[in-house]
Amino acid sequence: MRSQTYIRLVLALGEHDKNYVDAYYGPDEYRGNDWSLDEIRAKAVALREDLATDLSEPRWRFMDRQVDGLLTRIDMLSGKQVSFDDESKTLYDIVYTRKDFSFYEDVIRSLEAVLPGGGSQLDRFESLRSKIEIPTERMQAVFDRALQLAREQSRKHIELPETETFELEFVKDQVWGGYNWYKGNSHSLIQVNTDFPSTIDRVIDLMCHEGYPGHHVYNSLLEKKLVNELGYVEFTVYPLFSAQSLIAEGTAEYGIELSFSPEEHLALTCNELAPLANLNTADVEAYMKVRDVIAPLGSLASDVASRYLDGEMSRSEAVDCFATYGLVSPERADQRVRFIDANRSYVLTYGMGKELVRNYVQSHDDRWAAFTKILCEPTLPSDLIR
Ligand SMILES: [Zn+2]
Repeated sequence: MRSQTYIRLVLALGEHDKNYVDAYYGPDEYRGNDWSLDEIRAKAVALREDLATDLSEPRWRFMDRQVDGLLTRIDMLSGKQVSFDDESKTLYDIVYTRKDFSFYEDVIRSLEAVLPGGGSQLDRFESLRSKIEIPTERMQAVFDRALQLAREQSRKHIELPETETFELEFVKDQVWGGYNWYKGNSHSLIQVNTDFPSTIDRVIDLMCHEGYPGHHVYNSLLEKKLVNELGYVEFTVYPLFSAQSLIAEGTAEYGIELSFSPEEHLALTCNELAPLANLNTADVEAYMKVRDVIAPLGSLASDVASRYLDGEMSRSEAVDCFATYGLVSPERADQRVRFIDANRSYVLTYGMGKELVRNYVQSHDDRWAAFTKILCEPTLPSDLIR
C-alpha cells in the first residue's frame, strides 16, 4: 500500500511540475490523480507518519527521505522561498561550500601556458576546440563505438540483464547535453543534444554517464534487483528532484573514471574515436592537455547557481560569469543559466555526488563490487558517509 501511495504522489506532483518525473514504468492505473498541491502535501505527511515506525529498514528509510524531498518540492512550487542551501540539503543531502571567483581566474590564467597562437584567449580556445568537433554525419558512428566500449567494460564487472538494450537519438533545443529516458524492461532511450557541436573528448564521458555504468545500468539494476526480485515496486518511479538523483549523478560521473583511467581515456579517444570522426590525432592530444587544465571549472555552475538563486547576482551577471570564466560563447552561457533556472540546486549533484561515490568506492578493495552495491540497493547519500 505504501508503495502504491508513494507512486501516486510522485506522479500527481508530476502533473504540476513537468520535469519532476524522470522515469515511470509501472502500471497506468496509478496515473491521473489531479490532486492539488495541498492534497498531495497532506497525503505525503500521512505517508511519512506511517513510515516513521519502520525507519530502521533501508527500504522505508529510503522512501521516507524521498517523501521529505517531495514535500520540499511542493513548498517550492507553492511559492515558498527556500534558500539554496536549505533546498540542496533537503532534496539531495548536500550543502555546497562556495569558492571565490578568484579560483576560476587562476584556472583561466594557467590556461595561457597550454594554449598556442595569437588573439584573445577565448578565440584561441575556440579555434582548438573547433578542430575536435565531430562532423554531424560521423556522430552516430562515433557515439555507437563509444557506447560499445563503455558497455564492454561494464560487462566485465557487472552482471547485467540479458535483455538490456538502449537506443541512441540526436535531438535539439534542450538545456542539457544528454539525457537517459529509462523505459522499463532494461531499455533506455539516450538522447544527445546537438544544439552545440559535440567534441570528441566528451564522447566516452557521455556514454559512460548516460549508459554504462551510469544511468542505464543504475535503472536496469534497480528494476532487476529491487522491483523484479524483491517486489519493491516504488522503484518503478523516479522523481528527479530527490536524494536518488545524487546517487544517480554521482555514480554516473564516477563511473567514467572507474571504467577508464586517464591514459585509457586518452588512448581510446585518439586511437578509436578520432579516426571514426576523421579528426587529427595531434589536435585531439593538444585539446586533452587543455581539458586537464580547465577541469576545475567544473564547479563554476555550483558557484554561479548558489549566488544567482539566492538573489545575490542578477540573471545577466550569471550569464556574464559563464562567459568570463566558463570559456563559452554568450549563447552557450545563456543556455547554462537556463539549465540552472530549470534544475536549480540539482547542478550540485554531479560534482558533489561524484566525490561522495568516489570516497566510498575507493575505501573498498573491490571497487566495482562496492560501486555495484550502491546501484543494487536502496542507497541514500548518507549511507556513503562513514
Ligand atoms: Zn545524468
